[in-house]
Amino acid sequence: MTANHSSGEKILAGQTAIVTGSSSGIGAGIARELGAAGANVVVNYAGNREGADGVVRRITEGGGRAIAVQADVSREEDVAVMFRKSISTYGSVDILVSNAGVQKDAPFVDMTIDQWNRVIGINLTGAFLCAREAAREFIRRGPVPERSSALGKIIFISSVHEIIPWAGHVNYAASKGGVMLFMKSIAQELGPQKIRVNSIAPGAIKTPINRSAWETSEAEADLLTLIPYKRVGEPVDIARTAVWLASDASDYVHGTSLVVDGGMTLYPGFAAGG
Ligand code: NAP
Repeated sequence: MTANHSSGEKILAGQTAIVTGSSSGIGAGIARELGAAGANVVVNYAGNREGADGVVRRITEGGGRAIAVQADVSREEDVAVMFRKSISTYGSVDILVSNAGVQKDAPFVDMTIDQWNRVIGINLTGAFLCAREAAREFIRRGPVPERSSALGKIIFISSVHEIIPWAGHVNYAASKGGVMLFMKSIAQELGPQKIRVNSIAPGAIKTPINRSAWETSEAEADLLTLIPYKRVGEPVDIARTAVWLASDASDYVHGTSLVVDGGMTLYPGFAAGG
């Protein structure tokens, strides 16, 4: 991601965003774009302190404000502490981007309970714990209309695999399908309180999670057969969408999953026949 990707507009000035799993990949891109849009950013990480510090440095060097906070989002106490640190540093939280996610792939019949629980624990339970804490904070703090039309914004980073089944990754697909109905259900429940809840469902984005799918030219060519727009996505493609979803520009967008995938969900296998 390069600096000239940022709009330069401070449309999130005065707001505070927690981005889970922002020491790397898509989360790092989102943290940087939110920082460039004027938000105070809490850069959450689980183990990669160096990555998180690097993201904080990039944001502060660009004139923004950010801190790194360690927390395992699958642990209730860690999530509570992360919110307490965020609130004691910046006063409140206005935006949650629930992005932390992992894959633990295995053929279904060989999948262990640990592989299942780890992926569900981080990708789905982590989303629950962070969203619940965010909603509690939005309600505690109350409206600040000069900062944002909504009481608060929650954005889940889901996946096209909330739609597309994925053999060999059933724990991951189950977690993302779960995030989709979790998002819609809390959007229904929290809408009357003006808490805006949405997801972004990325297609293939170049990050460490899927390095083997794009790092050689043969792998990338294979991947491109699944993408009608014929380019593999970059974190900034998701980050710009997140800034828009966090801003008042999308104030009437609620309970939706925005697919950002270069057309992967158009089922390109059907382009010639079917
Ligand atoms: P990534 O580069 O591997 O980043 C994953 C991030 O999650 C890291 O910052 C990692 O932090 C964090 N994380 C892992 N376990 C955590 C935990 N228990 N608590 C807090 N943070 C934790 O992968 P990515 O591609 O950017 O993935 C980000 C999100 O996008 C995931 O939800 C993924 O499912 C989704 N997604 C990615 C793609 C894609 O093509 N890349 C497509 C669709 C959806 P540490 O390194 O510090 O542990």
